[in-house]
Amino acid sequence: MKTLPVERNGGKTQHLGNLRNLSAKLGNEQFRVDARTSRYKLQNAAKTLLPGWAVDYCMEAAIPGRSVEIWQDADSDHAHIKGVARCGSVWTCPVCSAKIAIERRDEIAEALKMAKKAGYRPVMVTLTAAHSRDMSAAELVEKMTTAKRWMRNHGSFKNIKSMMGFQGSISSMEVTWGYANGWHFHFHEVFVVSKINGAAELKGAFFSLWERALSRVGLIANYERGVDVIVPRPDDYERVGNYIAKWGLESELSRGDAKEGKEGGHYSPYQLLAMYEQGTDWAGGLFQEYARATKGKTSIRWSRGLRDVLGLSKELTDKEAAEAQASENSYMLLRLTRAEYKKIIYSGRRGVLGELLAVAEVGRDALLLWLESVFDIMPDG
Ligand SMILES: [Zn+2]
Repeated sequence: MKTLPVERNGGKTQHLGNLRNLSAKLGNEQFRVDARTSRYKLQNAAKTLLPGWAVDYCMEAAIPGRSVEIWQDADSDHAHIKGVARCGSVWTCPVCSAKIAIERRDEIAEALKMAKKAGYRPVMVTLTAAHSRDMSAAELVEKMTTAKRWMRNHGSFKNIKSMMGFQGSISSMEVTWGYANGWHFHFHEVFVVSKINGAAELKGAFFSLWERALSRVGLIANYERGVDVIVPRPDDYERVGNYIAKWGLESELSRGDAKEGKEGGHYSPYQLLAMYEQGTDWAGGLFQEYARATKGKTSIRWSRGLRDVLGLSKELTDKEAAEAQASENSYMLLRLTRAEYKKIIYSGRRGVLGELLAVAEVGRDALLLWLESVFDIMPDG
């Protein structure tokens, strides 16, 4: 872990009173502040665990030729930082992946809206396999993705597609870990279809193919759990929304506390990271194992042509999604030099950027006061 530094330099008594007022003001907003600060603390933890990876450099440097600017959105009051390079790592960066998740969720919601307009329906399918505690994350991810590829390329899959009136699909993969059985893997998939089928009928068709796909890589699944199919009623879009919210897109990050977020004995990777951040070293080892297993894998996959069918524009890359900022109604609070920005991020305060954003949301004066009292920085921008 990076070490904690001295919190502030002394001798500025007139500012101490003001700082106290500032904390009182922040108290009202404590919840949002805590959630975000913990995301940046988790990012610090990921940097410690993955030295040399993209996340290690995330937001550590200004984009060449640009200054670092702190902006605030007039509608939401949310502050953001412009001009710093982001890693866009969907699997390993708690800050970027939260941003990417929001973009992806909006995109999928838009897609489902367009699908509905065009008269198509969603069918949700979850695929998984039985697993044992001694299987490594890498082995499980490899086997599952191989099985899935085999299934999708198999001739019988064409029959399932025509049975559904297949228009396209959006799929994601999710990796979790539990004490009882170790690593656990799910594919979540939304099929956009034109025909109506019963869930049981579809489950039967999927299972016979999925079971064969698994057997080719030495995995098994039982009928009960291996395949889950949900055919929502035509107007039950809430159910679809809830299903998608459970994907890797879940807001696990807003629940920084590992114990609270635990569901059914399974921990998400960022919950493991939170456990490590709070002092459980072995959870850090698991996070590293997971990071190696998912490296380079696509998190959300759109079937070819679906975006065209629904009239959607080109998909943003993870990096673009991480960097996307709505800025129609936002304004700049202040500008920092590269040296000033460096002083802040290398101060050793865990989650310092989350703290900076929280103070910025109180306003420019608060931000100036904080920068001067804590870092001896007096920006002139
Ligand atoms: Zn990042």
